[in-house]
Formats: sequence, structure tokens, C-alpha cells
Amino acid sequence: MEVQLLGAGQEVGRSCCVIKYKGRIIVCDAGVHPAFSGMAALPFLDELDWSTVDAILITHFHLDHAASLTYVMEKTNFKEGKGVVYMSHPTKAVYRYLMSDFVRVSTAGSDDNLFTEAEMIASFNEIQSFDFEQEILLPPSDTSSASVRFTSFAAGHVLGACMFLLEIAGARVLYTGDYSTEEDRHLVPAKVPNWERPPDVMICESTYGVQSHEPRLEKEAQFTGLVQSILKRGGRVLLPVFALGRAQELLLILDEYWAEHPELQHIPIYYISSLAIKCMDVYRQYIHTMSPNVRAKFARGINPFDFKRQDSFIRPLDRGISKLNDRNPCVVMASPGFLTSGVSRELLEKWAPDPRNGLVITGYSVEGVMARTIMNEPTEIHALNGGAKIQRRLSVDYISFSAHVDYTQNSKFIDEVMPSHLILVHGEVNNMSRLRAALRTRFAERKNDVQIYSPRNVETVKLKFRGERMAKALGSLANTVPTPSTTVSGLLVSKDFSYTLLSPADLREFTGLSSSVILQRQRLALSVSWDLVRWHLEGMYGKIAQGKDAEGHLTLRIMETVDVKLVDKHELAIEWVGGVTNDMIADSVLAVVLGIEGSPASVKKTTEDHPHNHHHPH
Ligand SMILES: [Zn+2]
Repeated sequence: MEVQLLGAGQEVGRSCCVIKYKGRIIVCDAGVHPAFSGMAALPFLDELDWSTVDAILITHFHLDHAASLTYVMEKTNFKEGKGVVYMSHPTKAVYRYLMSDFVRVSTAGSDDNLFTEAEMIASFNEIQSFDFEQEILLPPSDTSSASVRFTSFAAGHVLGACMFLLEIAGARVLYTGDYSTEEDRHLVPAKVPNWERPPDVMICESTYGVQSHEPRLEKEAQFTGLVQSILKRGGRVLLPVFALGRAQELLLILDEYWAEHPELQHIPIYYISSLAIKCMDVYRQYIHTMSPNVRAKFARGINPFDFKRQDSFIRPLDRGISKLNDRNPCVVMASPGFLTSGVSRELLEKWAPDPRNGLVITGYSVEGVMARTIMNEPTEIHALNGGAKIQRRLSVDYISFSAHVDYTQNSKFIDEVMPSHLILVHGEVNNMSRLRAALRTRFAERKNDVQIYSPRNVETVKLKFRGERMAKALGSLANTVPTPSTTVSGLLVSKDFSYTLLSPADLREFTGLSSSVILQRQRLALSVSWDLVRWHLEGMYGKIAQGKDAEGHLTLRIMETVDVKLVDKHELAIEWVGGVTNDMIADSVLAVVLGIEGSPASVKKTTEDHPHNHHHPH
């Protein structure tokens, strides 16, 4: 098996993982790199002939996992092939809004946009969607007989996010995508599925390397305490977030906290994102896929994602900061989370000089973006337009509400999966090498035989493993339990991905199949005598008994397998039951018979047999 990363190899961003096995090619994720724009943000797409791809599976709607999909579908030769694109129902629903927004944002002030809205919509209609834990069998390939199926499992992380268990010709690969095993207010955490057999290969995210998250309740208390203290000193709280994902969790936390603290209820919580407001419909629609907490509330008639309801303290705003009243203390949640542009950046620049204000960063920031730079608490920041220096006096805090696993959670999950090969992706080089070292030690101490890889972009990892296959014995074959090293023989019946071993007599009962034989018959013109044929065959196979068949034809049975019959005065028939050995014997019989006429021995034999018929001129 070959695994090649076209992105997210020793970096966070532009996830794109190519898996090749037995002539089938599956790609997991097609993202962009958030720190780059235009073509530079794409994965290394030229490394692959996209017309040969069987399927593209998208784990979740985040841009670094899904935003180059339109480019692949519309601007590479993917369309010339038969590849199918899959994502979960909620992912597909959010993806559409998110991509419209992506086109709008990346087109603004740039002529380097990757694709148009029209191209996005054209390809969108080709995407197939599935439910969690639904098993999907890929259409067969023209060039490979290997069958491929996949099943998706909830990955936590964001609405609709899943991990994939891929099975290609019996080899099993688990691709985690971004995942979280932590309980939260609205998502179902990732769990190791109950499988018959662990995956051979696990391709696993490593965003947080060996770092640890604080326990959830402590972290929440720290967060709400911090927000409250900023408000108390008369400040404004800026929460830069991605429109979708942790933002929904933070809104639920704040809404709940406000409900419990009447003294805060006069302070508005603004949520500025036209995109997120559009997507709230999707959140409302997919409540059945969320945590028991959300479902229980919904059953009581409370929709936690309906911020327009009477008792909600959240005020959604969908037109930037024009309608925002920030003269007094307030909480504003705005995107983008990286503070690279847009509303969150605008507010940062406006509020930075006032020391009463506070910035709380809650998510993972990639290298090179403002959200990362400002964590070092510089005294000045640069304005996005014009680059003027702005005093930074507002407080900066970082409380990780990341929806990615930390070291404890990741290593526990890997332990439970226990693959033979572990490929680390989606992590910055230092985080990844620390994780790799920590896991090595962990496995070595326990003598677990796990190979760990952390390939760079475009590097190909070649994996060798025995694709172990299991066959179930059925019927009379299963009457006796075999002891080790005994041989069990029967018919091996393969159907899709399961194998059954049974006695031929049980075939019809257990499989609905029946056995049949193929009788082969070859007819030949006979120009020599029957006796001569017999003489030649005996010369080759030894003494042959002559008998008669049901129709009374003279018959010679050769090696108990092939019958040579005299069916007419000048016609021979060769008959046998088709099979590998029988066919070979029949071939040799045929060669002998066809060679009779031209053989010098025939002339000699004919002379001996019929001396009286010959004309003697002397
Ligand atoms: Zn993600």
C-alpha cells in the first residue's frame, strides 16, 4: 500500500491524503492552507493523475479539509475519470454556505481566486452524501478487481465531522481527520468503533502533539471568570472564532452562564457572522446527530441553536459592525478566528489601545497569523490597511477550547485502535516529532509492534503487510473443531468482503449456489483407421481398454479422464469434464491424435497391418 500526503504533511492545513492499494486510489480530504492564498494555498495536486481516482472522501467542512474540492472537481482531470465524491449530510449542507463565503472572501481584492461560485455549485450537485455508520460500497473499477468500501464514524470536532474506516481488498485503513474524544455541550465525541479486526493502518491527526488540554469544567470556569472580570473593569471582550465549530459551543456556554447570572444579563453578547447565522438552520436541522444534552433540551421544546428565542442572551448580527453598539461593556464573538482580516480584525484594531478591553483566543492558530503573533503580547500591532502602528494595551489570554484531541486523548485512542502502521498527519513539525518520540517510547515499553511514520508533503510511505483474511467454516465442515496445524479443505466462497469455507455438498444449502460440471467435446475428422488411433494412444499412455458408450460408439478411456470415441466412420470425438488437470490431459490426447497422420511411425504400422493389400510392382 502507498500513502502519499499532498498536504498536511508536517504542517497544519490543506489536508489531502492519497491511498493507493491493488489498483484502487482513494483520496481523503481536499483542503486549502489558511496561511496562504490563491494557488499557493492548494495541496500539491500535480502529483496525482486525478482521472484515476476512485473516490474522494471529505471528513468535515473546515476549509483546510474541504476548500480545494471544487478546484479538484472542476479544474483538474478528475472529471475525465469515474471518481465519486462523498461527505456526510450535515457536512454537505454547511459546505455549500461555507464555500459561497470562501469564494466571496477570496475574490475580494484578489485576482488570484481559485474558482467561481458557479463552478462551486456545478460540482456541489455531484457530491454524494451519507449517514454516520452507513456502509458505502464503491462502484467497481474498470482496471482493478479489488473492491472498496468505507464506513464513517462520528469524530466529535464539528457538526457532521467523521472519521473513515476504509477497506480496500481486505486491507483496513482508519483515517481520523480532525477529531475530539471530549464530551461537550453539542457534539457526540469520537469513540473507537466495535470492529471485528483492528485496522492495519491508522492515519491520525497530531495538531496538539504532546500538549494536554485542561479538564473541561475547569477550562469553562476559567473562561467565564475571565470574561466576567474584563466586563467588570468596564471593558469589551473580543472572542475571535471560526464561524462554525467551537463558536457554537462557546455560545452555548455563555448563554447558560448568563442565564445563571442575572447581574450580567444587561450586558449584550453579540455574535457577528452572516455565514454562521445562515448555517444555524443546518444546526437546527441536524439536532438528532448531536449530544444527548442538546437532544434532551430539544425534546423539552427548547432549541439551543435558536438564538432568536425569548430567553436567549445571544444577539446575532449579520451586517458587520455597523449595527454594533460598543460604547459600553459587551461581549463580541466574530470571525475569522485567526484575526487575519474581516470583522474580528477590525474590532481588534479599534479596541487594542484601551487597557480595559480583553482579547480571548480560544482555538488553535497556525504560524504566521495575527492570532498567533499577538499571543506574545507585543506592545504594538500593525493595521491591516496602511500598516500604521496601533498601541496594544488590551489584555490577551489564551484558553484552548480546541476540538482536537490532546496527547492523553490521542494516545489513548491510538492504544485502543492498535494498528500495525501509524501515519501522523496534520501537525506542525515540532509537535509531530515530539508526539512521534513519545509514542515510540510508549510502544517500546509495552513491546507493541507499531511502525510510526510522519511523512513530509509529496513523500510516499510504502507499507507492507499481510492482508489477513478470515473465512468462516459452515455446515458439515464445522462439525469438528480443527486443532492447530490441521488442514481444513473445502470450497472457499468469496462474496464482497466475507469468505466462507464449506463442503461442496453444503454449497446449495448455505450459499444458494450450486455446483455444475462442464463437459467438453472436441470433434475431429478421421483420415486414418481406428486401430491406428488406438495404437498411437497406447504408445503414449500404455494399455488402454476399449469399450462402448451409451450410444454404442467405440470408446477409449485415457487416464480415467478423457474419452476418445469413434462417432462416425470418418469422425472422432474427444470428451472430458472441464478442469485444470483434465484440460491438460485432453490437450495432450489431442496433440497425439492430430499428429498421427504426419508421423513416420504411422506409415510403418500401416505397412505391417495391411501387407496383402499393397501393390507390388516387382
Ligand atoms: Zn477541522
